[in-house]
Amino acid sequence: MSVEIVFVMVGTTHTGNLGAAARAMKTMGFTSLRLVDTCSHLSAEALARSSGANDVLKQAQSFGSLKEAIADCRVVIGTSARARQLAVPLKSSREIADEVAELAGSADASQQRVAMVFGQERSGLSNESLDLCTRLLRIPCNPDFSSLNLGSAVQVVAYELSQAVNSVPQGAPVPIPGKWKGSDGAAPAPLDPDELPATSEAMEHFFEHLDRVMVNTGFLNPDNPRLLRRKVRRYFESNRPSANELSMFRGLLSATENPRKPS
Ligand code: SAH
Repeated sequence: MSVEIVFVMVGTTHTGNLGAAARAMKTMGFTSLRLVDTCSHLSAEALARSSGANDVLKQAQSFGSLKEAIADCRVVIGTSARARQLAVPLKSSREIADEVAELAGSADASQQRVAMVFGQERSGLSNESLDLCTRLLRIPCNPDFSSLNLGSAVQVVAYELSQAVNSVPQGAPVPIPGKWKGSDGAAPAPLDPDELPATSEAMEHFFEHLDRVMVNTGFLNPDNPRLLRRKVRRYFESNRPSANELSMFRGLLSATENPRKPS
């Protein structure tokens, strides 16, 4: 498999769902499970529901926050049963799988890590969690009955992704979209890592800097930020800049903080 996909469970309250998620992942050839503020993943029920995917549960890594869990990821896909106001672009599971297939076929695929983030059974992902996502995925379903069981949602997403990245043997080869091949069919030369989308950690540093400048210049009133912060964040997350582009923006922000006289 060319691109690493990690499944991140946030706030899961039923241990059985963690077991079901591990089973869903493993059947589709995925093993990286990250946990944020969940119930016990090693309970008897979790292990029983995993039906033998115990290794996935045992290797799962726990994090103190979603921010930490996705710090090393360049693409962060939140999942939601409903469209959320002001979230990043909403796409179907198939559309996201197509995007991941493109990524998987690219020359720099091995340096990419994609996070799939799943929310709490009752409330889903909070707005703060969605703010950390570069895309939002919704499994298309009955508009009047759109909330899947958490384990089932992981299964559908894992299946779509397995088709995208060939994580399990396919009946027929899945073509790699032409975009990633040269006209002669040769793989493109690897990209400079600084040209890849920035990591979530780098984005957080950028947002802190941007916020500081917006407040200090009076552009943003911290006592009345309204939706501005979220809109700005959404703009940059839905087209995440590369590390090189981020340093250009950071330079611009620093120059705004310490302007030099034009020579
Ligand atoms: N009311 C919540 C439902 C939570 S269901 C909401 O609107 O999000 C628990 C989790 O299962 C969700 O956070 C999401 O990760 C996943 N899920 C359930 N139904 C889904 C769907 N139709 N599309 C994508 N993810 C879904």
